[in-house]
Amino acid sequence: MQEFRCDSPVCDSHLTASDKNDLMRKIEQHVKDVHKVEKPTQTILSYLASTVTEGSGATRR
Ligand SMILES: [Zn+2]
Repeated sequence: MQEFRCDSPVCDSHLTASDKNDLMRKIEQHVKDVHKVEKPTQTILSYLASTVTEGSGATRR
């Protein structure tokens, strides 16, 4: 499981997805909806991607 915690001081969203591509789509949607970034640049996206962590699978059965 992939996990992302938003770094913004005004937002402490925690997003998770089973794979990174899926998570990147959620992150992109998140920055559009919550942070009003209409077109996140590649720089922003790769920075955000670098903050994604591999979850320990706490919810895995
Ligand atoms: Zn956020």
